[in-house]
Amino acid sequence: MIIAVDGPAAAGKGTISRKLAKHYGLDYLDTGSLYRAVGRDAITACIDPADHSAVADIAAKIDPSTLADPALREQKTADMASVVAKIPRVRAALLEYQRAFSQSGKGAVLDGRDIATVICPNADVKLFVFASAQERAKRRYRELLDAGTASTDYEGVLAEIEQRDERDMNRAEAPLKKADAAYLIDTTNLSIEESYRKAILYIENLKK
Ligand code: C5P
Repeated sequence: MIIAVDGPAAAGKGTISRKLAKHYGLDYLDTGSLYRAVGRDAITACIDPADHSAVADIAAKIDPSTLADPALREQKTADMASVVAKIPRVRAALLEYQRAFSQSGKGAVLDGRDIATVICPNADVKLFVFASAQERAKRRYRELLDAGTASTDYEGVLAEIEQRDERDMNRAEAPLKKADAAYLIDTTNLSIEESYRKAILYIENLKK
């Protein structure tokens, strides 16, 4: 079984995807971490994101064993990820790895922005996990406060989320959008457990 999960930043798709992978015994790939790795390596090598061919070279050399690097979670890396994600050659370089991952072994859950629309258009299950920008900013800000790493206030976090949404939804190549056949889970007023239960109920009904 292949489960494709798309949605904007901080909507809850990562947590739901991990829980689904565990429940169904599937492999899990957080595809955002691939774009973050390109962003990290571009920052480290002082590459100007306007230099598309230099960034594409980085994308072609991404080492999947570095995807747990804590530097990937930094705000500047997330911002750079959404800038380099607009470059068609970067997306092309990362596509094969994602497709191969989805097809290897026992089945997989992949989460990202274009999984149901581009990477796995034939996925057995397609979910679109959404929440209002205000609610997503509240959650992200709370996480930063809990981790003691908040370098901005709630308004700053909201602005960052809105800017990333704008880039991800309006780019020419593989923009973030709900696939027609995807099941929408709006988590704005739901707990993670409630959102996850919705996903499980939907999948179990599909299997009948
Ligand atoms: O999901 P995450 O916030 O880690 O993704 C970081 C950035 O990577 C996103 O803002 C988006 O620009 C890009 N991305 C993408 N396609 C994906 C996954 C992530 O363009 N499938």
